[in-house]
Amino acid sequence: MDDKIRELKELIDGSDNIVFFGGAGVSTESGVPDFRSEDGLYHQHYKYPPEQMLSHSFYMRLPEEFFRFYKDKLLVKGIEPNKAHLKLAEWEKQGKLKAVITQNIDGLHQAAGSKEVLELHGSVHRNYCEKCGKFYNFDFMAECDGVPYCDCGGRIKPDVVLYEEGLDMDVMSRAVNYIANADVLIIGGTSLVVYPAAGLIDYYRGHKLVLINKQATARDSQADLVIQAPIGEVFGQL
Ligand code: ZN
Repeated sequence: MDDKIRELKELIDGSDNIVFFGGAGVSTESGVPDFRSEDGLYHQHYKYPPEQMLSHSFYMRLPEEFFRFYKDKLLVKGIEPNKAHLKLAEWEKQGKLKAVITQNIDGLHQAAGSKEVLELHGSVHRNYCEKCGKFYNFDFMAECDGVPYCDCGGRIKPDVVLYEEGLDMDVMSRAVNYIANADVLIIGGTSLVVYPAAGLIDYYRGHKLVLINKQATARDSQADLVIQAPIGEVFGQL
């Protein structure tokens, strides 16, 4: 076993107050595309950059285009939790992990069995009528053509935080609270350059900060342990 993996395992074994904060990299190993990554596809199929299409003003102005992109890129079917999701759920069940804080909207942590999941950017599994508030699930959204409408005639909006929209302050304050009181904080699958990830890390007061990411991150120098590898691969060895 690699020295760094052994060090991580010792941190995990010795703690019952672990908090995990994850970004897109946690889900890419399950086959969820990172819509921010430039894979060239957008230029072929879409006239606008993803950040623009996933903005509140774009949703209001061009809903057909919004939902075309949303269904194509964000409603990913047939995905399964990977070793990272499963390990986190296992630690929670063992009473070692307090919460998973995620920037992902795919619901894979819940699919793996995690209970305390703080979704900073919402979830594709929750959708509500803008008029009457009726709930619609993932399958309904994936199967409908064009812009989804409720029985009452209202438009159905995904409970996903779009660009230009504020984060849920209740979710944010709970996330801050977990991080501020964490013994071990593991941050994975994010390069820590995008808000709020970069800001949340500053609330951590401990000295067991672990960063796991494929590439170097903006905060590597602050961390007590840095593992540069895909997170599922790392967790698979624990
Ligand atoms: Zn309605």
